[in-house]
Amino acid sequence: MDMIEMDDAIRIVLENTSTVEVTSVDLMESLGRTLAQDIRSDINMPPFDKATMDGYAVVGQDIARASQADPAVLEVVEEIPAGTVPQKAIALGQASRIMTGAPVPEGADTVVMVEDTVTENGRVKVLDVTETGGNIASLGEDVRVDQTVLTAGTMIRPPEIGILAAVGAVRVPVYRQPVVGVVATGSEVVEPANKPEPGQIRNSNGSSMTSQALQAGAATRYLGIVEDSEEALKQVISEGLDTCDILTLSGGVSAGIYDLVQGAMVDCGVEVLFDRIRMKPGKPLTFGVRGQKLIFGLPGNPVSSVVGMELLVRPALRKMQQMSPLHHPTVKATLEADFRQTPGRKQFVPCKSEKQGASWKTHWVGHHGSADLFSLARANGLFVVDAEVEFVEAGSEVDVILLEGW
Ligand code: AMP
Ligand code: MG
Repeated sequence: MDMIEMDDAIRIVLENTSTVEVTSVDLMESLGRTLAQDIRSDINMPPFDKATMDGYAVVGQDIARASQADPAVLEVVEEIPAGTVPQKAIALGQASRIMTGAPVPEGADTVVMVEDTVTENGRVKVLDVTETGGNIASLGEDVRVDQTVLTAGTMIRPPEIGILAAVGAVRVPVYRQPVVGVVATGSEVVEPANKPEPGQIRNSNGSSMTSQALQAGAATRYLGIVEDSEEALKQVISEGLDTCDILTLSGGVSAGIYDLVQGAMVDCGVEVLFDRIRMKPGKPLTFGVRGQKLIFGLPGNPVSSVVGMELLVRPALRKMQQMSPLHHPTVKATLEADFRQTPGRKQFVPCKSEKQGASWKTHWVGHHGSADLFSLARANGLFVVDAEVEFVEAGSEVDVILLEGW
């Protein structure tokens, strides 16, 4: 099978990714999900003409020339706390004490704020002019009954949660969370709770991959560590494909004689669509499909697996849930130090980028190869160096993929 370009790999993955079904969840479970239908309001907002200040509801005409020297003196007929309904209409010469959020009584067209008044013996003196209509939010001013308040495809954040609550959408139509199965392969790999014996290493990939899938909105299913044996691999792949939307495996996809993942995939009925990408890190990366299910064999090296998850698995997960944009944002940034590479593969270099005024600057975080999780932890993006480039001079402009959420 030919080695393919990264752009083609992304295209192939997305072409084979389908949207998951729509379901509905309780309002408070909808945070971070994508809205699957337009939402309309069942009420006007505000639902009535509402005072936006504590003060007095009056007839604007009565206070049109009020001043310190010559206040308007009005009879107070009622007190209207928020949550009550006014019982009395206001006529010329009258006012009602009103609280923020309370309905404005009939006849009144203006609310004078309490700071502009003095009260004495059932009367209020208004010491200043308020424009007619002032301090009142009118019925339906924000939203009318049946108006669409949120459109399908919107990502639900805290303000959207507030809107959904305001229109009574207590069950929210969203895309189902795709389930990502996570498998670590390798006879040398042990669970993080264990201290590695000679020849063993801890399974860091399982945890990174799980957290990356969670950040991309998925639910995850950890299927454990599997030794480098065809039988064990076939069993876990078959279980993973039966129970998950996307199965991700780390390790076992290089050219070694114990790299058995691709063969096991094929035995499980997977159609392999590519197995090498002209990229660094992470050249050996196997991708296949079985029906609607996607399966990714990521390289075991921790940095390679992290990069593969962010650049290939994350967009697929976002597409499944109709999230947009599918990819991390890319910005132009000024490279702070010279960078050299052996030409041949498009390189995604872990880097730390900062915005300075309107422009970005970036520097390589340095690393000791694709196992170096520690330098990766200092990065918040990847700068891209094209395959044929040998040298990028300090001060040049490079494309940086900003890893959202990092
Ligand atoms: P492989 O792709 O299986 O050849 O593994 C490449 C390198 O990544 C080897 O040094 C492995 O020991 C290491 N590795 C494989 N799986 C994991 C894992 N789950 N967590 C951390 N490192 C791993
Ligand atoms: Mg291995």
